[in-house]
Amino acid sequence: MAPSDVTEGEVTMSNRQIVLERRPVGAVDASTTRLVEGAGPTCGPGEALIKVGMLSIDPTIRTWMNDAPGYLAPIGIGEVIRSSGAGVVTESNLERYRVGDVVVGLTNWQEWVVADGAHPFQVVPTALGLDLATVMNVLGATGVTAYFGLLEVGAFASGDVVLVSGAAGATGSVVGQIAKARGAAKVVGIAGGAAKCAEVVEEYGFDECLDYHEGHLARRLHGACPEGVDLYFDNVGGEILDAALANLALYGRVALCGAISQYNTTERAGLANTSMLIVRRGRMQGFIILDYASRFPEAQAALAAMVHGGTLRHREHLVHGLERAPEALNMLFGGANHGKTLVVVDETVQLS
Ligand code: NDP
Repeated sequence: MAPSDVTEGEVTMSNRQIVLERRPVGAVDASTTRLVEGAGPTCGPGEALIKVGMLSIDPTIRTWMNDAPGYLAPIGIGEVIRSSGAGVVTESNLERYRVGDVVVGLTNWQEWVVADGAHPFQVVPTALGLDLATVMNVLGATGVTAYFGLLEVGAFASGDVVLVSGAAGATGSVVGQIAKARGAAKVVGIAGGAAKCAEVVEEYGFDECLDYHEGHLARRLHGACPEGVDLYFDNVGGEILDAALANLALYGRVALCGAISQYNTTERAGLANTSMLIVRRGRMQGFIILDYASRFPEAQAALAAMVHGGTLRHREHLVHGLERAPEALNMLFGGANHGKTLVVVDETVQLS
């Protein structure tokens, strides 16, 4: 019986899962993960059964594959790859979920998942008027990261000159648009290649975008921001962060969101320009979005209003098939994604 044939009370479906086979050195490859198939989970007392529809593909998944200290425990060898995602409740022995509810949470890379008290999911309100991919993108982790990273960690103020790396990506594209909507003096993006830079300016409304593949970034940043950068939102780390530090304005802030340029490397790049924090009386602060979980509804309401009001454009990059999740993860590192990368596991799972 195919998984989609399952009906309430039946437990005969199978569950395909992608597990960690070997810790990657560098990029994820065919030896890193393994697709396994076994019996699907059952829905016991105090549990709800969820059919997974979509996976959020996030660069941090790569960091969880390392046996190294992080903000969450490493994924164990043989464990299903940790990932957030969305699904539909097909059976429920819990009052908080009704059959048919679309939920988001840690689905992991698999077709079926069980929710219980220790492993809760958030029910997506049907009244949002947005499709599931948009919810996963703008109202998902990357959207709220953009919101709190810019406004709280970066202490954005109207009139700031804002610089954003990873500007064509899920997080960066939202950062720049919030900054524009809230009165930034100038919003400059950094992205890889002319096509992405054009996207950043024409589609997301940044004032300018610099292609970091072209080199001499620090010098070109000075040309784009001659008075310096008041707020740099860093999605990439490494040399690009160093170039931004060299261009910090007086009392400039750096919100350290991500360091994707370092996640596949075995040797971390150093920074040459941290002394600019002294000279410019600047500050640099990292953050993990999970710390803002209790305030997600505030960000989601503001972001949904921007989408409905036409001030927040968004793109979803859909990859079809659970088995393609490792390939989708690698796309983030090669820059093959445009906007938020999502894997469609079951396209019948939708917000009605
Ligand atoms: P994106 O949609 O932005 O995709 C990643 C992009 O990174 C790629 O498209 C690519 O764009 C760029 N990139 C890849 N390798 C490099 C490199 N070596 N140098 C420069 N750019 C590179 O991903 P997300 O929006 O999901 O994530 C963006 C960042 O935010 C990540 O670092 C992630 O870990 C972080 N993050 C942090 C959170 C937190 O709680 N702190 C929460 C969510 C995300 P291009 O083609 O332009 O090179």
